[in-house]
Amino acid sequence: MPTKAFAAQSATSPLGAHSIKRRDPLPTDVAIDILYCGVCHSDLHFARNEWGFTQYPCVPGHEILGRVTKVGDKVKKFKVGDIAAVGCLVDSCRSCTSCKNNLEQFCLNGPVFTYNGEDKHLGGITYGGYSENVVVDEAFALKVPKNLDPAAASPLLCAGITTYAPLRKWKVAKGHKVGIVGLGGLGHMGVKFAHAFGAHTVLFTTSASKFADGKRLGADEVVNSRDSYEMDKHKGSFDFILDTVSAEHDINALLSMLKFDATLCLVGAPPNPLAVSAFSLLMPQRQLAGSLIGGIAQTQEMLDFCGAHNIVCDIEKIRMQQINEAYERMLKSDVKYRFVIDMASLKNG
Ligand code: NAP
Ligand code: ZN
Ligand code: ZN
Repeated sequence: MPTKAFAAQSATSPLGAHSIKRRDPLPTDVAIDILYCGVCHSDLHFARNEWGFTQYPCVPGHEILGRVTKVGDKVKKFKVGDIAAVGCLVDSCRSCTSCKNNLEQFCLNGPVFTYNGEDKHLGGITYGGYSENVVVDEAFALKVPKNLDPAAASPLLCAGITTYAPLRKWKVAKGHKVGIVGLGGLGHMGVKFAHAFGAHTVLFTTSASKFADGKRLGADEVVNSRDSYEMDKHKGSFDFILDTVSAEHDINALLSMLKFDATLCLVGAPPNPLAVSAFSLLMPQRQLAGSLIGGIAQTQEMLDFCGAHNIVCDIEKIRMQQINEAYERMLKSDVKYRFVIDMASLKNG
């Protein structure tokens, strides 16, 4: 079916109206009319080819929430009219060891990402949620707890799971001192989850204007990461740090905050390499790690946790036509704390 979308046609062109095709639902597929789509910084990195592997036209968007309009005859999880959500993955081989361990994002035969992935049905590449609808196998569609506001829940599909997964892997809990670096889409969810898991949560930010919000969102302390005097007070004291920064920054200053044998995990993906001094890791022994989104089962676990604890994202709704302006504001760290596109604007625009 022909579907209205917004796409970047090249690394330097602004996003604009475009038309894509969606497949007719197969027996295990659900077709979803998209109501809301969050705006992730990865969308911007992709649209502008900042990581060097974007294929055009590029239709970003992987924080998708909508209403089911059609189900294949073998679909069990959803019926027409249900709310369903789709994150960064739309398929994987389902038989390799990663898939069998619920780590579809590391599928050994190549996970199919929601956009810029290989479309095994129509050929070409997959197109994301800056569009009217999406068709996905029900195994990759998530249930959203009914008590959560749909618009504010949509960014949980990437910003939520990307911060939830590493905080769970490193068993963040009461008694830990945990740092979250950057108060953007990912960072504000990192603060909420670290706080919900009972950790003493410290936000590192470069924006003085976000200090009060950091506390409101759940941080016990807020540190200006550009103030070396303030940073010095926390040296060697952290059990775990989650770094969500999207651009170049001083990783050695952050590593120096860790205790012996503690870990700094990168989820932020700056396009250029970060300069890591060997001594930041050697003295005392420290770990530098990374984490990529999360598997489908853990994404459902995260959504259910959010339902049980009433956790959603702090959002600013925009129209599809405001996306280029929203990207510019995101680059200035001027977003509180996730833009979410109201997709009615694409249908009616
Ligand atoms: P975002 O909303 O733009 O937030 C990034 C934050 O980083 C900013 O709000 C800012 O926080 C801080 N920051 C920006 N530039 C900085 C600089 N030069 N120095 C220090 N701090 C800076 O972005 P996002 O959507 O949360 O995404 C963050 C990064 O994670 C992106 O690179 C994205 O591609 C990546 N990502 C990775 C995964 C994964 O699976 N690993 C998943 C999703 C996204 P303050 O104003 O508080 O300093
Ligand atoms: Zn994302
Ligand atoms: Zn696999």
